[in-house]
Amino acid sequence: MSGTPGEHDATAATAGFRPRIPAAEWNDWRWHMRKRINSTEKARQWIHLTSEEEKAIAGSAGKYRWSITPYYASLMDPDDPSCPVRQQAVPAPAELTEHPGAEVDPVGDTYYRVTNRVVHKYPDRVILLVTEACPVYCRHCTRKFHTTDLSGTYFRDDEGGALDEDLRYIAEHPEIRDVLLTGGDPLSYPDGRLEEIVAGLRAIPTVEIVRIGSRFPVLLPQRITDELCAMLARYHPVWLNTHFNHPKEITAESAAAVDRLLRHGVPVGNQTVLLRGINDDVATMRKLMTELLRIRVRPYYLYHCDNVTGVSHFMTTVEKGWEVMEGLQGHITGFGVPQYVLTTRIGKIPVARPYFTPTPGGLRLRNHAGQEMTLDAATCPVTEDDAR
Ligand SMILES: *Cc1c(COP(=O)(O)O)cnc(C)c1O
Ligand code: SF4
Repeated sequence: MSGTPGEHDATAATAGFRPRIPAAEWNDWRWHMRKRINSTEKARQWIHLTSEEEKAIAGSAGKYRWSITPYYASLMDPDDPSCPVRQQAVPAPAELTEHPGAEVDPVGDTYYRVTNRVVHKYPDRVILLVTEACPVYCRHCTRKFHTTDLSGTYFRDDEGGALDEDLRYIAEHPEIRDVLLTGGDPLSYPDGRLEEIVAGLRAIPTVEIVRIGSRFPVLLPQRITDELCAMLARYHPVWLNTHFNHPKEITAESAAAVDRLLRHGVPVGNQTVLLRGINDDVATMRKLMTELLRIRVRPYYLYHCDNVTGVSHFMTTVEKGWEVMEGLQGHITGFGVPQYVLTTRIGKIPVARPYFTPTPGGLRLRNHAGQEMTLDAATCPVTEDDAR
């Protein structure tokens, strides 16, 4: 996985046509941000575009943003359009077809928004939408309208405006003990601007934990510098959840980014989206979860893919989610098993099938191997009546 020091060589063996980038540039996240791929000419330096992809790029111009960091492009199979990394980042024709039931905001972020940036849906925690910008515009983004749609936004006012109103809302609601910075990707901001936001939250005594949702560890791990981590560590407790969807995304660079966060005391969790044709099979998910454990990332949620406008083609059935969960539960350690949730207007709802059924005789249990047994009420009282 790791290249030799000096020039990066992630691509040398399979794709000699790719540019060789000096390490000083490859390791500099600002270089990747400047050199993001957003034209067919630039994309052709990394992959052999199919005519379908070219059509989708042309067709989505003026509708959806697209942008790919050279780092993320280097993970793509140059010859295979079904490459799981490629499908997450290169536009596809299906994004532009209408799909029954699709909505731009099925989870109701805009409904629960109480200020320009604060979405208050749960009793003790809020999300703070700090930006619309991302290093790569994932084709499956659940906030595609906000991040990727050129005419869309969840912001009421400009994202660049002051945060006074947002911070005041949080301060005036002392039940909010947990603030999750999200977007877009909050780490799109330079450290200084980010620090202003985190420091603003830390100045509110009732805010106990600050969380960051960021896909930089996957899309551009070089962004996770020691300086950034040291800054975050000044405001502990700070947690970070990232978004690995496929084992191909776990590289020496991403492992090093996670390691830097952990060494600075930032626990790293992962939220995966179940995506048709990308990770909707047991073998891929088992590999993803166990590889995450190897780099000390704790699997957190497995999101069912919502029926979001421009994203519907990635949707699987709930039955597929059950199959994947049953391939994980009991087969790998419990802390490698994420919670399978449907994100809805009424919140994130756990939807994995239960491993027990209450029966008159007690609890009927099943395990990962398909064995069943009944635990009678005398052995394991379920209700207070059983216990008497
Ligand atoms: C997902 C989400 C949160 C955080 O939920 P957790 O289950 O605590 O990770 C908070 N607010 C909103 C609106 C969310 O969508
Ligand atoms: S990084 Fe996250 S917010 Fe940004 S486009 Fe990807 S999934 Fe959406």
